[in-house]
Amino acid sequence: MKNEEDELQDLKDRVAELRRLLAYHADRYYRLADPEISDADYDALVRELEAIETAHPELRPPTGSSIPLGAPPSASFAPVRHRTPMMSLEDVFSIEELYSFWARADARELAGTPFVCELKIDGLAISIIYEEGNLTQASTRGDGVVGEDVTPNVATVSCIPHRLPITDPPARLEVRGEIYMPISAFLELNRKQTEASQRLFANPRNSAAGSLRQKDPRVTAQRELSFWAWQLAELERGPDLTSHYESLQFLAGMGIPVNPETKLVHSLSEVEEFCSYWAEHRHDLDYDIDGVVVKVDSLVVQNRLGATSRTPRWAVAYKFPPEEQNTKLIDILVSIGKSGKATPFAKMEPVFVGGSTVSQASLHNADQVRLKDVRPGDTVIVRKAGDVIPEVVGPVLSLRPPDSRPWQFPTVCPSCGGPLVRLEGESDTYCVNSLCPAQRLQRLVHFASRDAMDIEGLGEKRVQMLIEKGLLSDVADIYSLRDHQDLLKEMEGLGDLSVENLLAAIEASKRQPLHNLLFALAIRHLGKTGSLALARAKGTMDRIIASTEEELAEIEGIGPKIAASVTSFLASPSNQSLLDRLRTSGVNMNEFSPRSDLLGEEAVLEGLGSENVDLPAQTLAGKVIVVTGTLPTMTREEAEAAIRDRGGRPTGSVSSRTWAVIAGDSPGANKISKALALQVPIIDGVHFEQVLETGELPSQRSPQS
Ligand code: NAD
Repeated sequence: MKNEEDELQDLKDRVAELRRLLAYHADRYYRLADPEISDADYDALVRELEAIETAHPELRPPTGSSIPLGAPPSASFAPVRHRTPMMSLEDVFSIEELYSFWARADARELAGTPFVCELKIDGLAISIIYEEGNLTQASTRGDGVVGEDVTPNVATVSCIPHRLPITDPPARLEVRGEIYMPISAFLELNRKQTEASQRLFANPRNSAAGSLRQKDPRVTAQRELSFWAWQLAELERGPDLTSHYESLQFLAGMGIPVNPETKLVHSLSEVEEFCSYWAEHRHDLDYDIDGVVVKVDSLVVQNRLGATSRTPRWAVAYKFPPEEQNTKLIDILVSIGKSGKATPFAKMEPVFVGGSTVSQASLHNADQVRLKDVRPGDTVIVRKAGDVIPEVVGPVLSLRPPDSRPWQFPTVCPSCGGPLVRLEGESDTYCVNSLCPAQRLQRLVHFASRDAMDIEGLGEKRVQMLIEKGLLSDVADIYSLRDHQDLLKEMEGLGDLSVENLLAAIEASKRQPLHNLLFALAIRHLGKTGSLALARAKGTMDRIIASTEEELAEIEGIGPKIAASVTSFLASPSNQSLLDRLRTSGVNMNEFSPRSDLLGEEAVLEGLGSENVDLPAQTLAGKVIVVTGTLPTMTREEAEAAIRDRGGRPTGSVSSRTWAVIAGDSPGANKISKALALQVPIIDGVHFEQVLETGELPSQRSPQS
């Protein structure tokens, strides 16, 4: 057993190790803008050191804390000594910790005092000084005491005034705030990098820090940076201000950008509400936030509460759960899809990020792997922002093993050993063997999936079992499963009830409209929207079969590429016999089957798109519409179906061809910024039904209003 002395020595060693690690990572993060570990991992080291130093105050340095407050200024910039230190903030990671932070403050001081809740912008801290109304100096936080002079760079940020727009400006004013890169600008920057085959930037925070701390301010000027002020640090010859909120309003009055979401509240339960709201809505914004900063509003109370050596006692940062983590990339594998598409994906050591454990992520295609230059053995950054799909952001180059080699796309299919081919002009690679077992499995799974024939209970596992039992080899076999009921009931995990339910779901799927069947057939390039366009235009499978490639290409939403693919699918004898077998099994081949029972097929066909089939008036004919956010009366799917029913075309992204963007509650920030940039009308979701009915734009609203 270790004696007390040994234990203390172990702790001292660990403290020394933690201080060394923190200094190293702070330098990579603040000075080089190229971190090696995720923020969550860094925060964990900070907390470990804090815990040891709290339990053993004798290990604390005389300065009070050994946690870096940033990094010493780089020699590339002139040093600037801050008149008052630029501090960090104490972090809390849960609402309970938030309450206990305030519980530690003097209760008498806090009694009845309001708080200001602000978004914690994920950028870099800047101090800007105005003398007699003119911007004279801007500097980074540096190590909190001495920062870097970045005045010419900050002067290129268009929203920061060079001169305060008032007649009698303060003799001296110091404002502190955050320089950040809007997400839309970050995406655009990476789009340009992709076009130029240049390495992609990891995230908006690193791009902002890297863009601002450039030796040549002309480079900064080309990057779209922005700024939110969060503190008035000094004021000479100005109004007497007594509260933080008031001082922010004063700054806003000087034309300095202050975040509009800032809120003055009067209780900790309102603080809690603000934190919960933004934890959920952080992705509605066009900039990254990593938490909420809660500050005591009264400047007198702030003064009385004071500060530790590195953080004020009157403010705290409530941090959201991390959305980026580092992990090891074990290997890059290739999966084969229903139409033979070979998709590379990352197999990673499991890591908890964005609320779930991630061990795989798609890498999309060969070009993406090359641009991101991720290699097996790399430490990679994994991100799961907003949506549920994890993404490999890129490698941490400084941790790359010395013997690493760029990954090569395999030349043969991992499932059937057939050749993998990249077609001219396409970014995707395909296994061209249609008998490939992986393709067969995926085609069957796709056929049964919700948006296709919607056969509940026929997922990948069962399909695999049925293939192995020799009961399924193509999609038409699904409709013969009823003949093998006894065998099915004997199969492991398939009880009587389960078999009955499966067969009932298969039976019901025969009545799906033609567009579901077309989509289910996994014809290359023919997606859900194309299937619908084809089914609506032609009405029956026979009419599609009878059409020439040119006739199909003329259909709105089809075009030559899909038309060629559909024609070649239908020309194949094996596909023809597949369709015959589906038809013989009773699978519906009409789009408007319910009415055709009543009217007779001919009547339906003659009157396609007209009153015979009860389609609503085609008010939106040919109009391309984007729906974003939550609408008051319908789901997104219902809204898109309603647009289609009226001849319109719902799409997922805004372009110059978009007629209007329908914006419900919490619309996608990127869609809104793109619509604004392209001057596409944005319609409030409450007017959607009116738009459906009239096909006209109601008076527009601007999203800022
Ligand atoms: P912090 O980010 O926890 O909080 C202080 C900073 O928040 C301020 O300096 C300011 O720049 C910013 N801020 C944003 N909005 C603000 C607002 N409304 N009011 C006041 N301040 C606001 O502390 P920090 O000391 O800057 O840095 C620590 C952060 O940096 C942590 O998230 C840590 O994980 C990360 N970090 C990561 C690494 C790494 O290697 N990954 C290394 C060092 C630091």
